[in-house]
Amino acid sequence: MTAEDQPARPDTIAIRSGRDDANTSLAPTLWATSAFITPSLDEARRMSTVPRSERFYSRYSNPTVKSFEDAVAALEGAEAALAFSSGMGAVATTIMALCSTGDHIVAQRHIYSGTQLFLQGACPRFGIDVTFVDGTTPGAFQAAVIPGRTMLVVTESPANPQMALVDLDEIGAIKGPITVVDSTFATPIGQRPLEHGIDLVLHSATKGIAGHNDATLGVVAGSKDLLDSIWAYSVLHGACASPFDAMNGLRGIRTLPVRFARQTDTALRLAGWLETHPAVACVRYPGLDSHPQRELAKRQMTSGGSMFAVELVGGLEAGRKFVEGVQLAQLASTLGGPETLVTHPASSTHVGLTQAEREDRGITDGLVRVSVGLEHPDDLLADFAQALAALA
Ligand code: PLP
Repeated sequence: MTAEDQPARPDTIAIRSGRDDANTSLAPTLWATSAFITPSLDEARRMSTVPRSERFYSRYSNPTVKSFEDAVAALEGAEAALAFSSGMGAVATTIMALCSTGDHIVAQRHIYSGTQLFLQGACPRFGIDVTFVDGTTPGAFQAAVIPGRTMLVVTESPANPQMALVDLDEIGAIKGPITVVDSTFATPIGQRPLEHGIDLVLHSATKGIAGHNDATLGVVAGSKDLLDSIWAYSVLHGACASPFDAMNGLRGIRTLPVRFARQTDTALRLAGWLETHPAVACVRYPGLDSHPQRELAKRQMTSGGSMFAVELVGGLEAGRKFVEGVQLAQLASTLGGPETLVTHPASSTHVGLTQAEREDRGITDGLVRVSVGLEHPDDLLADFAQALAALA
């Protein structure tokens, strides 16, 4: 077998992908332009009518954004990808592009709150019905599908913030509706949903993909036909990615595999240590044997990833003291970057849900979400130890 026959591994794909256009530039190139000079009227007519015209108008397509899309498509093993101005831009545009009045969506109950609020607020306003199911119950998605009416099955795995998983093989086997997985927490390194037969994989690339907390970006990957139809709506909806953010996304992709590996190692160590601490009721991390879906995690994820949730003994007061007591980790509502962050979902990411909705999803007042960064694990352990000591 020659080197050319070898399927490239993700680490290698991440270094070289999405740069066909770079010419002699070693780094990705930034096309900071909103429009391109059109060579002739006939060409202008052609470019305004074909899908995803390149070098015409940046809302249609932009070379830096296209490079980012190509890199994500390569990592996900997809034919194509489409970038958006945020993760929610990707979620909302995908749903509105593929569903019409009278259609039905089956969605996971444990899901990022923005996605949930969109599904339960915006969708019914447009006459799109949504049925929420418990994604951890085998067969729940299939059972809720209404033949001929269900257009989309919307899932997220691992799910924000409780780290519940859905069985990707089971979702991939659903026939009829278009299946979507928000794979933000796993990144393209932690799992490859399309290999399980799923139609679309979606990311808030604001998180691990861009990876430096300096871009707000979303992306969807899948077949070229599906992406073309999402593009046809998205070009009118206008949530297109900025070339500057796409540039930061490309920069992030090159180090994603090494960042993810290091974050995973540290997360495993921290989560395992926290699990034995008397101030901790439980830890939810797919890399620990205590995770209720550990066997599924082993089957479909390459590792436990960089995120975990910790339930503190002592409810809101314990949660507050911990997130305000850490000194190296910082309190912020994002994830996947180089800084270790703690978040109190009940007061931030999921504050828009009612208390009953939060309780139903296990988002208790003592729950803290941890996004593990790139600091030295010993320093993080010492920081968590001092913050937990103050809870006693
Ligand atoms: N999906 C998941 C799983 C998320 O965690 C988030 C944001 O936290 C989003 C989507 C939305 O992404 P963005 O903030 O880039 O719009």
